[in-house]
Amino acid sequence: MSTDTKIILSEKDIPRQWYNILADMPNLPKPPLHPGTHKPIMPEDLSLIFPMALIEQEVSSQRWIDIPEEVLEIYSLWRPSPLFRAKRLEKVLNTPAKIYYKYEGISPAGSHKPNTAVPQAYYNKKAGIKRIATETGAGQWGSSMALAGAMFGLKVTVYMVRVSYDQKPYRRIAIETWGGEVYPSPSNKTNSGRKALEMMPDMPGSLGLAISEAVEDAATHSDTNYALGSVLNHVLLHQTIIGLEAKKQLELVGDYPDIVIGCCGGGSNFGGIAFPFIYDKFSGKQLRAIAVEPASCPTLTKGQFRYDFGDTAGLTPLLMMYTLGHDFMPPGIHAGGLRYHGDSSLVSQLYHDKIIEARAYKQLTCFESAMIFAKSEAIIPAPESSHAIKAAIDEALLCKEEGKAKTILFNLSGHGYLDLTAYDDYHYKKLVDYEYPEELIKESLSRLPVIK
Ligand SMILES: *Cc1c(COP(=O)(O)O)cnc(C)c1O
Repeated sequence: MSTDTKIILSEKDIPRQWYNILADMPNLPKPPLHPGTHKPIMPEDLSLIFPMALIEQEVSSQRWIDIPEEVLEIYSLWRPSPLFRAKRLEKVLNTPAKIYYKYEGISPAGSHKPNTAVPQAYYNKKAGIKRIATETGAGQWGSSMALAGAMFGLKVTVYMVRVSYDQKPYRRIAIETWGGEVYPSPSNKTNSGRKALEMMPDMPGSLGLAISEAVEDAATHSDTNYALGSVLNHVLLHQTIIGLEAKKQLELVGDYPDIVIGCCGGGSNFGGIAFPFIYDKFSGKQLRAIAVEPASCPTLTKGQFRYDFGDTAGLTPLLMMYTLGHDFMPPGIHAGGLRYHGDSSLVSQLYHDKIIEARAYKQLTCFESAMIFAKSEAIIPAPESSHAIKAAIDEALLCKEEGKAKTILFNLSGHGYLDLTAYDDYHYKKLVDYEYPEELIKESLSRLPVIK
């Protein structure tokens, strides 16, 4: 059996189809509802801001969906991504477990997000769209979309949450280098932005508000569409390339995971690595899949499963999902990509049906795990990914306790080289743990729309 550290596929082994889990779920998520009428949304309602090809993918029940040649060509710039056997981490933990990680940090934007940004840019371009409006928190998604726009000659406008715009300039600079334009949100470019600025001129902004601005921009310009970096079915569909590759790579070394782990913000990198394995679980394979979230934004573990808006202003369709309430204001923890009030409907339904598990960790223990990982495997992980690492380490230590040699696979969703400030804050003890108080969660949930 191979003892390689890196398990590499050749370019011709890039999967040619994405896996659509809607084809196999025992219970389908309830449909998105129109924000005004609370009736199931029609494809025409969405066509104001999305191209038809993506709307079709959003509701498709076809199990395998072809990846266009033009998308494969861009994927081939960095895919297939390597699968690592974390031998040095195993040794440090002194565990009988085998730990593998799929490394998505090798994409030009440093995370898994270009896996969906590229096909989204492609389908919009094909539909004759000239510009994409989108939002970004710390800039991971905005930079991925700008990169994808550059590949297909699309303009990209990014509404970037004000605090990140001010404090984290590097991804803003990357967006501009790839030709995108960036506005701090709230901005004076949109009604939702102007309204927020009137109420509070020095507002730090939030992801929900930036989404409102981008959606409004797209809805009010006919040559402009909107793009979302997580949560929606088509996004998770595109991300399944991660798990499909990982499956082929594990096959090469004759292994199969007992446990699959991903950090969970909106659910896209978790769904991406886990769904192709859950496909096997549907046909009887024994397997656990664990979504890991921050204790400061505990959507699956402490939220409610019900309809809620995707944004703060209530412009987006209502999605059936685990939510903390659309006006939930998560604290400024360092895993910015995990600070969303909701979650993918697919991930939410699977969690509700107990097909997947979820757990939440506080940030200090995650940074501690990130340090163990950086000192053994050398890669400095994204603060988001450190949540997956923490869960993998916990499972590996449990294996040691129980004397079991399980196979653990986790997704290293990105690197942390543009988030080094977070590590600096950790080293110099400027980071604190924050568990979102139950009362505040309840309060935010009390303002959710009532669906008759
Ligand atoms: C955005 C991001 C996440 C969280 O988003 P998901 O949709 O839950 O995957 C996780 N890790 C990294 C590196 C990110 O950039």
